[in-house]
Amino acid sequence: MEMRALLGQRLLERLATAERFAVLTGAGVSAESGIATFRDPNGLWAQFRPEELASMEGFLANPTRVWQWYQYRRHVIESAQPNPAHIALAKLEQIVPTFTLITQNIDRLHQRAGSQRVLELHGNLEDHHCAQCGRPYQGEISAEIAQPPRCPSCGGLIRPSVVWFGELLPAGVLAEAEHAARTAEIFLVIGTSAEVYPAAGLPLIAWHHGAMLIEVNPTPTHLSSYAHAAIRQKAGVAMPHLVALIEQLRSNC
Ligand code: NAD
Ligand code: ZN
Repeated sequence: MEMRALLGQRLLERLATAERFAVLTGAGVSAESGIATFRDPNGLWAQFRPEELASMEGFLANPTRVWQWYQYRRHVIESAQPNPAHIALAKLEQIVPTFTLITQNIDRLHQRAGSQRVLELHGNLEDHHCAQCGRPYQGEISAEIAQPPRCPSCGGLIRPSVVWFGELLPAGVLAEAEHAARTAEIFLVIGTSAEVYPAAGLPLIAWHHGAMLIEVNPTPTHLSSYAHAAIRQKAGVAMPHLVALIEQLRSNC
């Protein structure tokens, strides 16, 4: 179906005039860049549960395995390129007055596509800190390092600065994301299964505060029943059309 028909008249009117947009992205927005989503059954690491690879318990039980998993992911991400969905979102930031891009992804592909301001709810793969004393780690992490380095201050194990299961999200980042959700007129949810909280709660906060919700995901989620429009397409297909339409709607008024 054509994008206008999928959105409907009320949403088209709001897209033409809204001042405040917020977006939440998940692993699905990077799927077309060749980066497997967490729950991808074909993933090389599919024999492990996410909790075994992305938790402090899992890290302490087998630091080398967890470290190598992140080294592998960093390698995949470095070889990947932003796709048309990342590029369309960077463009949308330029078109609308207030724009907040919130991501659960740790791959930095939004930034590489040109997005200026990205709220990283779950950290990123470039930064590291000590699992014991918490100090940031400044040493270089090259692809050859097969074991987690040791902290120069306390000797603890160095870990990637991503948010693991059971850990709190960075408070300032979450507060900014919640503010954006409360004040958004349009909230886009792209490529997330919306199963991991508190990220998954942001679209609902926006909905309760009167935002119109647009979901872009080939597969329905529990958010779908709240969405004013559910676009059942891949992000890399839908987003360039959606952003082009928003630009067109706003140049006419
Ligand atoms: P998820 O794997 O739980 O869900 C991915 C969602 O994307 C699914 O709903 C799926 O239907 C949808 N999807 C798949 N292909 C798509 C496409 N081409 N276009 C649009 N949607 C598509 O991922 P999640 O919701 O982000 O949550 C899991 C956690 O995994 C997050 O905390 C995130 O930090 C982490 N993670 C990040 C990356 C990354 O940085 N790229 C990769 C894997 C996992
Ligand atoms: Zn330390």
